[in-house]
Amino acid sequence: MARLAIWLLVLLAAPAIARPSWDFVATFPAKQGDPVEVQATLSGETGPVRLCTPRDGAGQYFHDLKAGEQFVAPDADDPDCWSLRAPRGGLRLSYRVELATEADDSHDPDRAASIHGTFVFEEDAILLSPAPRPTGEYTIEFRLPAGVEVEAPWERLSPTRFRTSWEQYEMSSYVAVGTLRRLGEVPVRGGAFALTAIGPAGRVKDETLRSWVRRAGASVANFYQGLPAPRVEALLVGEDCSDHGGIFGTTLRNGRPSVVLFYCADAPDDAFADDWVATHEFVHLGNPRLGHRVPWFTEGSATYYQDVLRARSGERSPAQMWGDLYDGFHRFCAPVDGLSLRDESDGLRRRHRYQRVYWGAACLFFRVDVAIRLRTHGEQSLDTVMRTLLKKSRAEPLEERDLLDALDAAAGEPIANESLVAKEPFALAPLFHELGIEPVGEELVKLHDDAPLARVRQQMFQADP
Ligand SMILES: [Zn+2]
Repeated sequence: MARLAIWLLVLLAAPAIARPSWDFVATFPAKQGDPVEVQATLSGETGPVRLCTPRDGAGQYFHDLKAGEQFVAPDADDPDCWSLRAPRGGLRLSYRVELATEADDSHDPDRAASIHGTFVFEEDAILLSPAPRPTGEYTIEFRLPAGVEVEAPWERLSPTRFRTSWEQYEMSSYVAVGTLRRLGEVPVRGGAFALTAIGPAGRVKDETLRSWVRRAGASVANFYQGLPAPRVEALLVGEDCSDHGGIFGTTLRNGRPSVVLFYCADAPDDAFADDWVATHEFVHLGNPRLGHRVPWFTEGSATYYQDVLRARSGERSPAQMWGDLYDGFHRFCAPVDGLSLRDESDGLRRRHRYQRVYWGAACLFFRVDVAIRLRTHGEQSLDTVMRTLLKKSRAEPLEERDLLDALDAAAGEPIANESLVAKEPFALAPLFHELGIEPVGEELVKLHDDAPLARVRQQMFQADP
C-alpha cells in the first residue's frame, strides 16, 4: 500500500510530457488553379524537425514554406525535404501547394486528379510529413469556398474537420474536395459503403449507382464472411461516356479503406449489370496487408474472383463466367519471351504487361483452387486460404514467401511456387477437359456435367467452403 502511495505521488509530481502533436489547416482557393494554403502547428516538441513529401520529385509542388515569418529553403541534398527547428512553445508553419498543377500533371487519384474541378487526391499531395514519420494522431481542417465539400475516410469531427493518424498517412487515403453528391450508405454483411458521386450526373440514376455498389459489395462481403472494414469510402467518378458501366477503379485497402470507381455517366442501366470493375476493386479490400507490393498476388486474386463471385451471385451464368475465365487463361497463362510470372510481376511498372500478370496469376489461383478442393474432398478451397491470410495479416504484414507457403500448403503440392517461376507453358487442356469445360468459340464454352471433375467445377461457383 505504501509503495502504491509513493508511486502515485511520483506520477502526480512528474511534469506532464506532452506528446508532440500536429494540427493542419488546408485552405482551398475560391479560384480554380490557385494554390492550396496549408498551415501546420506542432505542439509539444522542441528541437530539429524535418518535413518531407514522401514521393520523389513532389517537392516541386510545395512552395513558400515559412516557420513563423521566416522562409525556409528546401534541403540542399533533397528538394523534397525542409529542415528547421521547433522553438520552445511549439512551431507554426505555412506553405502553399500547387494541387491543380499536380492534378494536371498526373491525372491520377493515386497522386492527384481534377474531375470537372473536383480534386481527388491522396493526403500526401497536400500534407508534408515529419521524417522520420511519427506515430499517433493528427487533425486536419479544410477551409473551403461556398458550395465546396470534403470527403475522406477518417474520423469526422465536424463537416470540415477530421482526426486521422500518421499510420493511416503511411497507408494512404483518397480525399475528395469539390462538388460532391452524397448518395448515402449501402449496408452489407459486416459493414457499409459510404457513397459519394463526383462529376457530371449524366443519365445514370443515383439508385443505379447504389445498386451497382450493393450487388458487388454484398457478394464480396459474403466471400470474406463480413466486409473487411466496418466502413468503406467509395468515390464514384462519372466520366463523359456511355459505353461502359464501370471503367476502372483503384483501392486503398489498409486501415480505413477508400475506393475510387470511374464509370460512364451516360451508360444504360444494363451496362452496370454486366460490370466487373466494382467486384474486382472490392475483392482488393480483403487482400492481406503486405510488407511489400506483390502484384501477381493482389491482381491475380482480384481477377480470378471478379468472375467467380459474379457467377456465385447469379449476376452471370456459369457458362458465361467459365467462358471468360477460359479466354483469359488461354491467352495469358503461358510465359512469353521466356519471362516467368514473377519476372512480369516484378517488372509490371516497367513493361506494363498487365493482362499477363493479372490473368497469368488468376490462372495460378485457379489451379491452386482446384488442387485444394481435390485434396480436401471439397472441405476447403482457395476461399479458405484467402480469408486465413487476411486474418493473419492483421497481426503482422505478410511477405510473398508467406503467401506462397500458404497456397502450396493448402494445395498439398508446390503449384504456386512452380507456376510463379515457370518459363515454359503448362498444359491446361487436360485440366479443362477433366472439369468438363469445352471451348466452342471466342469466350464461349460448353459445360459437361458428366466430366470426371464436373462436381468440383460446379462447387467453385457455389459459396463456401
Ligand atoms: Zn486490381
